[in-house]
Amino acid sequence: MILRTPLAAGHQMQLQLQLLLLPSVLLLVLHLLLCDAKTVNPGDGMQVQHHQMTAEPGLPEPRAYMPDAQHLDFVYHDHEELTRFLRATSARYPNLTALYSIGKSIQGRDLWVMVVSSSPYEHMVGKPDVKYVGNIHGNEPVGREMLLHLIQYFVTSYSSDQYVKWLLDNTRIHILPTMNPDGYAVSKEGTCDGGQGRYNARGFDLNRNFPDYFKQNNKRGQPETDSVKDWISKIQFVLSGSLHGGALVASYPYDNTPNSRLLKGICRSSALCAMFQTYSAAPSLTPDDDVFKHLSLVYARNHAKMSRGVACKSATPAFENGITNGAAWYPLTGGMQDYNYVWYGCMEITLEISCCKFPPAYELKKYWEDNQLSLIKFLAEAHRGVQGFVFDPAGMPIERASIKIKGRDVGFQTTKYGEFWRILLPGYYKVEVFAEGFAPREVEFVIVEQHPTLLNVTLQPSKRLEGIGPMGPGAVPVGGGVGPGGLYRPIPAPQHYRPPVPPYAGAASSDSGIFSTISNGLNSLYSNIFG
Ligand SMILES: [Zn+2]
Repeated sequence: MILRTPLAAGHQMQLQLQLLLLPSVLLLVLHLLLCDAKTVNPGDGMQVQHHQMTAEPGLPEPRAYMPDAQHLDFVYHDHEELTRFLRATSARYPNLTALYSIGKSIQGRDLWVMVVSSSPYEHMVGKPDVKYVGNIHGNEPVGREMLLHLIQYFVTSYSSDQYVKWLLDNTRIHILPTMNPDGYAVSKEGTCDGGQGRYNARGFDLNRNFPDYFKQNNKRGQPETDSVKDWISKIQFVLSGSLHGGALVASYPYDNTPNSRLLKGICRSSALCAMFQTYSAAPSLTPDDDVFKHLSLVYARNHAKMSRGVACKSATPAFENGITNGAAWYPLTGGMQDYNYVWYGCMEITLEISCCKFPPAYELKKYWEDNQLSLIKFLAEAHRGVQGFVFDPAGMPIERASIKIKGRDVGFQTTKYGEFWRILLPGYYKVEVFAEGFAPREVEFVIVEQHPTLLNVTLQPSKRLEGIGPMGPGAVPVGGGVGPGGLYRPIPAPQHYRPPVPPYAGAASSDSGIFSTISNGLNSLYSNIFG
């Protein structure tokens, strides 16, 4: 079976990279061979182990699953029914599920999250937490129903499906089926386009309501958004999918761009301006573009038809391989995926899973058939890349150490257990680790296709030099701190990657002025038509 869908171009690049870096890789391998990996001495500075436990052990594909209509039929569930289903499921499967609310909508509906895992109540140290968010746009409820079916699929397959068991034993999956229950309540089944129910009860588009990296977002924070922000500040989510409707594509960050263009905003909503599209199309790529493309392809290729890249309607865009960069499609300010990635290093992508925003209920079965494999395989990608711990010399975890993969300037931080994760494709990497009171470190590691790499980093207290702060440029690691192959070099200054310094700071806001107003208006018209 193929869990890791090969990404032709990306893999070729990685291969070339590996060949170029072969001498260094050999050095590292030699280092690993010479080290006794079983002797855990936190003072060693570094251990690399392959984390066999969570590696996906050549399992058979997850089985196609049709839910038992008695427990969950293919119909739309209103908030009361949704609540009843979640409560009943958590009562029926207490060892696999936990139900909690992250807050309430404006009209007082709970924002329920169901955790599905073999450890539903407690974070499993060393194992990733992941999430799905459905129905952020109230009138796009296919994802909401798919997530209920996914919950049902997990709990009923755990004991019979090896793949599901592996996933739930090694991952905590948090599922928020509806982020906008008030919008859903005023949406109409059978309405494929339009904006009724898209917004929350105060008329705010929740996917334009997050702090933005590129532009100051002056929209007043809404309770639904604030609940999600609070939620993701408390749990270090490694991977996330946000489910939408109105198109068929997996869209990845950035959604916004440093120079969103007036022309672009206008042309995207008008067929007359089609000729400008090629001219003005501007992807806004993250330093993790290879990973985001890969994650999007995993979803698209495991989907029954997304990767064919067929346009929903003749007037709508066709997406090559069923994926797109968000800004290349149309830029937006205040989106959830950019926020997840830039603020918390969580790899979130946007999954547009139905051409019709609110298709008739009899089509839900087909949507489930189309999406069930994608929904599972995507989450399994949390087990790709590097994971590990940052310790002090006594072997105690260092919380909130800042971590950055070299060359990928969007960083992230360790949890209170000192854990970190980063999804990376096979290749050769360096990680930079900073923590207050410790000398920064740079460590090399290798990612292979077959299993995640476990990388533990021990930081040494920084030597206090007169006139220079503990983490000043002259900080010298106590007791060496030399990495594999003697490649340690001090990192200039402590940097904290959360929250980032927005590029708009100090610059005139490009959101002001009449042209921007027109552009924004047309962009929102555009997004009312699509996802
Ligand atoms: Zn949407």
